[in-house]
Amino acid sequence: MRLVLIGPPGVGKGTQAAILSRRLGVPHVSSGDLFREHVARRTPLGREAGRYLDKGELVPDHVTGGMLRRRLEQPDTQRGFLLDGFPRTVPQARELAAILDADGAELNTVLEFTAPEEVLETRLLKRGRPDDTKEVIRYRQRVYEHRTAPLLDHYADILLTVEAVGPVDEIAGRALRGLSMAG
Ligand code: AMP
Repeated sequence: MRLVLIGPPGVGKGTQAAILSRRLGVPHVSSGDLFREHVARRTPLGREAGRYLDKGELVPDHVTGGMLRRRLEQPDTQRGFLLDGFPRTVPQARELAAILDADGAELNTVLEFTAPEEVLETRLLKRGRPDDTKEVIRYRQRVYEHRTAPLLDHYADILLTVEAVGPVDEIAGRALRGLSMAG
């Protein structure tokens, strides 16, 4: 199963991705985690990406796309994956389609998680990541609205929307039920 998770900052994508990846038996591929690993290891890519992460800006598509392409060439993703944080722009979605198309593969479902704004703010402020200051959070929200939300239309045919409010297991249950109905 090839899935993409989309949702605003703080909606709990990472938490849900970890649960769903275990339940579905496919690897959890998080672009944010891949970037943070590069930053921690001080690789050239990490040095380039770090300044964008600090500001809450999107890392340029060619850097991001190359990193994801290499990750998706790893054999563990051959039978499926759960992408968390990629694609985040329409050009990235096109690049993903091209990567999959070369293998004769395609996405099954795009899961969108939603929650009211006040829930998102509270979750983000509790998380305490270095890029979770009020200013950077607000910036990431605007980036989501302008650059990432257009993906919801782009993927309208395979979109499954899940309300991400309540206990994490209940949210995951909702997503899994929706996926089994989506076939
Ligand atoms: P996340 O962990 O998904 O919240 O991502 C943290 C940061 O990594 C973002 O604010 C961006 O700076 C960068 N990032 C993650 N995924 C992408 C992507 N698909 N395209 C561009 N930048 C990204």
